[in-house]
Amino acid sequence: MMMKYNLHTHTMRCNHATGEDRAYVEAAIAAGMTALGFADHCPQFFPVDDYYSYFRMRPEQAQEYAESVRALQAEYKNDIRILLGFETEYYPQTFDAFMEFVRPLHLDYLIMGQHFVGNEYDENSYYAAESGKREDYLDRYVKQVEEGLSKGVFTYVAHPDIVWYCGSQAYYTQRMTDLCRFALARDIPLEFNMLGLLNGRCYPSPQFWDIAAKVGNKVVIGYDAHSPAALLRSDAYARCLALLNARGITPVPLKELTLRNEAL
Ligand SMILES: [Zn+2]
Ligand SMILES: [Zn+2]
Repeated sequence: MMMKYNLHTHTMRCNHATGEDRAYVEAAIAAGMTALGFADHCPQFFPVDDYYSYFRMRPEQAQEYAESVRALQAEYKNDIRILLGFETEYYPQTFDAFMEFVRPLHLDYLIMGQHFVGNEYDENSYYAAESGKREDYLDRYVKQVEEGLSKGVFTYVAHPDIVWYCGSQAYYTQRMTDLCRFALARDIPLEFNMLGLLNGRCYPSPQFWDIAAKVGNKVVIGYDAHSPAALLRSDAYARCLALLNARGITPVPLKELTLRNEAL
């Protein structure tokens, strides 16, 4: 029996999740998890005054977030392993400022969730889960994820199939094969996203997971929990597992993930 864990947990601070931090911990224990990682949407540092994304915590909340998670980690140490992380996009323009900000927090890990392509705030950026047909739409996503992964700070890629490309299937297969191989070569696992499955989003994409199975990527199931109750969805976990097993994929145990990456 696979030891259940989840490294993709949000908190109220991101403005679109509910429940106290403690309630997530209690739910994870009730669900029989061996580890729970908090990876809330991290602050970003856009070089403009007139843009701020609504779906992430503000910089001044990060210290309190870290302290809250560390306090729970100590309090529950005999019941469950708690980890402190962030989910972040890789934005070329703001990445250095971002890293400077997170290093003093001594995180256990970072996961990449590339919700936007470009730098989010600027022209030519686009939301990855909005459909696009042009080859360029897919290319830019793949290129940006690869560039981010080469920084060596990410433990895994959340919903790598968030990009909703509606063009040629042959081209999708080609470019996503590239992406999967890139991740495999760096030993970076890919996340099968439970929230997307529950909400009927464009991800998890059956085509994508056929490709990942063929390439032989390491895979992690991520709850992407935005409420404590989400951690109790063992039915959804079983569905994720079945969809992966049907492709010959077994999710990797936590000990195979690289936490505390060198560059972090
Ligand atoms: Zn979210
Ligand atoms: Zn998330």
